Amino acid sequence: MTNRRPLIAGNWKMYKTPAEAAETARQLVERVTGVTDVDIMIAPTFASLEPVFKVIQNSPVALGAQNLFWENEGAYTGEISAPMLKSVGCEYGIIGHSERRQYFGETDETVNKKIQAAIQVGLKPVFCVGETEKEREDEQTLSVLDKQVKKGLEGLVSDQLDTLIIAYEPVWAIGTGKTATDEQAQEAHQFIRSLVKKTVDNDLAESIRILYGGSVKPANIAALMEMPDIDGALVGGASLDAESFSQIVKFK
Ligand code: PEP
Repeated sequence: MTNRRPLIAGNWKMYKTPAEAAETARQLVERVTGVTDVDIMIAPTFASLEPVFKVIQNSPVALGAQNLFWENEGAYTGEISAPMLKSVGCEYGIIGHSERRQYFGETDETVNKKIQAAIQVGLKPVFCVGETEKEREDEQTLSVLDKQVKKGLEGLVSDQLDTLIIAYEPVWAIGTGKTATDEQAQEAHQFIRSLVKKTVDNDLAESIRILYGGSVKPANIAALMEMPDIDGALVGGASLDAESFSQIVKFK
């Protein structure tokens, strides 16, 4: 048995105007009020952070950002920093999502800088890793995870990492309707936990929350959460609707 507290996080990607995001947040708060045994986070677009925060403050739902830049301020057109995100109510920051790696050139090195920037201001990093379909077919899943985790956490020590969350998101399962089997997900999670043990330390490996992401829905969350090393979920599509996301939150 583990005492890791589950986290169910919603990534709203580039969906919803601020008014729509605030309304979905309102519907979600209505449905999850009274939930005390699961941490809940939603990450709307930057434009919706403030309006969503107004709706969720004093509720069980916390705010997250989908990305951040590693400098605190400067001439970096189009970017946003960790202190700025903190100042509008963010508690979490998603870092290294596969869509950022695929479309916006993020690398293990930039991911590492972003994790450091988040930690410096007390933003909890949700550090995403995962293999592509080709890498899985070529039996490279574990070596890809090994590289992403080691490089992403390079230079960081246990004391800095107590708020870190890792999200295992096989790229082939994101937005495709294909979910990793419970056993495939468990194998990857167990491997990631063993890597944290090897590269950081045993206490962190025991306490760190590792989320699964990739076509999580109300119908598959309970079985995933039965796996001993799965501590929650990062949910894309099914988090856009308050009813389906609240069913995932109430997976027990
Ligand atoms: C994601 O965006 O992190 C994700 C897992 O998306 P989906 O749930 O839609 O596969």
